[in-house]
Amino acid sequence: ADLTPQDFRWGQGPARQGGEKRMKPSSSAPSAPFQSQFDKAKVVVDSRKSVYAKNLPFRATEGEIVAFFKPSGGTIVDVRRRRDPGSGNWKGFALVQFETAEQMEAACKLDGSQLQGRPISVNPAQVHTGPGDGQRAQREANPIADCWFCLSNPNAALNLVASVASECYLALDKGPINSPFHLLAVPIDHLSCTLDLKDSTFAELERYMGAVASCFASQGLDLVMFERYLKLKGREGGNHCHWNLVGVAKDQNVGPKLKEALSEGSGFAFREMKTKLNREDLREIVGDMEYVLVTLPDGSSLVHPIMRGERVPFNLVREALAKSMGCPERADWKQCRQTDDQEANAVAKFKAIFGQFDLM
Ligand SMILES: [Zn+2]
Repeated sequence: ADLTPQDFRWGQGPARQGGEKRMKPSSSAPSAPFQSQFDKAKVVVDSRKSVYAKNLPFRATEGEIVAFFKPSGGTIVDVRRRRDPGSGNWKGFALVQFETAEQMEAACKLDGSQLQGRPISVNPAQVHTGPGDGQRAQREANPIADCWFCLSNPNAALNLVASVASECYLALDKGPINSPFHLLAVPIDHLSCTLDLKDSTFAELERYMGAVASCFASQGLDLVMFERYLKLKGREGGNHCHWNLVGVAKDQNVGPKLKEALSEGSGFAFREMKTKLNREDLREIVGDMEYVLVTLPDGSSLVHPIMRGERVPFNLVREALAKSMGCPERADWKQCRQTDDQEANAVAKFKAIFGQFDLM
């Protein structure tokens, strides 16, 4: 299908069938019927807590693999294996996830131990590097030709860019919920989510968030921020990390209303992070999963890892926010598009107000 720039805007692309994100079955699901002792829908996949076990006998059952790791003393929460599509046999490797990274490390001491006469290689999975590591970041940082958020893309809406710093930039939203106080804070490099940013990039992103909060405060506005991380595996380069920063009237008490609207709209319970957004805590909650993250005016955050097989309403956060701001008609970004002149005026207005708070 032809991709338009809007397809890259989370929650703002064309509504999909049924208006919901539909998850493909996990690629690690076996092709033949297989009963796992683990409830896959409840496991937050986390490579930092997983070992990669190689040279497993094809006939080893899940129970035998679990028993193999028993001497390590850790508690296994998931075993991820694949079958060979041709023979239907299990492949000779598995990802085995423990409750904690410490338990994972202890399990690695079993490296070389035997299972059914075969020496098993056991190493940390490390598929997805941790916050600030930068290795994954370096691999993925090349600009993507069709990405809406890569400034080198000829389709990028450069006219909406309000500020560019060393590693991040700020742009006005294409369909603002509250013009001109609806911004996107975006890393310049094509990185998939907040957890993949280098420390220096995240630090600058936080400085932008702080500057925008001060700017909004000068206008009697509180700041609500949200990030939705969908891997978008089907697209070249996948997701380009971006945060929505929206100014909401201080006297509207949007925080509690938004919290309520989010749980109503989603049907799942968000985890609450009471303190300022902290990537270690975020990583602990979401693991390697896709996620929805909302930061309220009081600085606390609500986060939900999108579980395997879980459906998340496509426009969840924006809809809940529009409702809690008392303007439900602004839930659909397309209804909020502006003319070129209106956009130019909005950018000029925002820049004039933001100037004294800008980073550069
Ligand atoms: Zn990009």
